[in-house]
Amino acid sequence: MPATERLYYSDSHLIEFEARVIDKTDRVSGWTAVTLDRTAFYPTGGGQPSDTGTLNGNRVLECMDDEENGVLHVIQGRAPEVGATVKGRVDWPRRLDHIQQHTGQHILSQAFVTLFNAPTRGFRVLDDSCEIDVELSNPTNELIERAVELANNVIWEDRQITIKSATPEEAARLPLRKDPSRDGELRLIEIEGFDLTPCGGTHAYRTGEVGMIVVRTWERAKGLTRIEFAAGTRALADYRRANKTARAVAALFSAGRDDAAKLTARTVEESKELHRRVRALEEIAARVEAQELLAAASPNAAGIRVVTQILDNRDGESLKHLAQALIAHPQTIALLGSRDKGAARIVFARSADASGDMNVLMREACAILDGRGGGKPDMAQGGGRNVEKVREAIDSASTLL
Ligand SMILES: [Zn+2]
Repeated sequence: MPATERLYYSDSHLIEFEARVIDKTDRVSGWTAVTLDRTAFYPTGGGQPSDTGTLNGNRVLECMDDEENGVLHVIQGRAPEVGATVKGRVDWPRRLDHIQQHTGQHILSQAFVTLFNAPTRGFRVLDDSCEIDVELSNPTNELIERAVELANNVIWEDRQITIKSATPEEAARLPLRKDPSRDGELRLIEIEGFDLTPCGGTHAYRTGEVGMIVVRTWERAKGLTRIEFAAGTRALADYRRANKTARAVAALFSAGRDDAAKLTARTVEESKELHRRVRALEEIAARVEAQELLAAASPNAAGIRVVTQILDNRDGESLKHLAQALIAHPQTIALLGSRDKGAARIVFARSADASGDMNVLMREACAILDGRGGGKPDMAQGGGRNVEKVREAIDSASTLL
């Protein structure tokens, strides 16, 4: 079978074409792969996703290279017969998006080479952004933004992008940004006065078409710097999302957007400080509360005061503070419970001169609460989902004593 003529090689903006069906293969459940003598559809490859569109009105969901250098168009519905002439149409918004991301990648990658001699080792188009893996050993926000600055200047200078072909011998003498990944005649993409690289993808006519490049975030990954960026319409969409988020946060403070980060940081700091103060006050309150509870508790036959108390809406830490305040008094056992945010919490503790294994009691109580817990013989904590059985769990522990 002859190779498919790739119309996108000579014109990345061609979206309507006519072609002849040279082969078709049925795939699973109503899907057919159609091979044409020529196509404007770009098949998945080189980090760039496939085009979509229609063939005689039938949806083309994906295109891929086959083993013999043809392009398979996967369509759903009635497939045209071999020999038929078909009208193909590529989805332009998706193609333009890929042109912007892909050409943007050429520009950004060359910016890292120009400024830091840092080549790109990988490229992926993601759902709403893209990634490049760059050999940049000491990345900082400032270095990365310098590359973004240069890339955008190249975009706004609206430089011409041309497609050239070269033999491997000719290519060997040219300053290519990366080594060719294939043998034979090479397709070179030249960004006027800036970048020259072998590539089979779809590119803008001029750099201005890329619009803008922004870096969303970056991280160190496997010895490289993984940079997440967005170009063209994706940069605009990303700006809108980021702006919406920042304004929503600022609105919580009735403040301007650009003050949101500072105000949020201040609130987080205040919250931590309040938390520390609440804990300190709880310890003081626990000492007073412990004395009241002990005054109301009468000693059992062994002379031990057993305080069994349910105090709702207390978290585990608050219960623990109260238990510690109670067992600071001699001959005391505290069996405390709480119903807090839909969960049962319990703390069992005894003073050093009282007997009983709190850990064993805790495990019994947690079985009643359908939960888990544990600790030491003198202090144990736990909880469970059976909120309505807190009283039963504490009474049961009291009986077991
Ligand atoms: Zn390319």
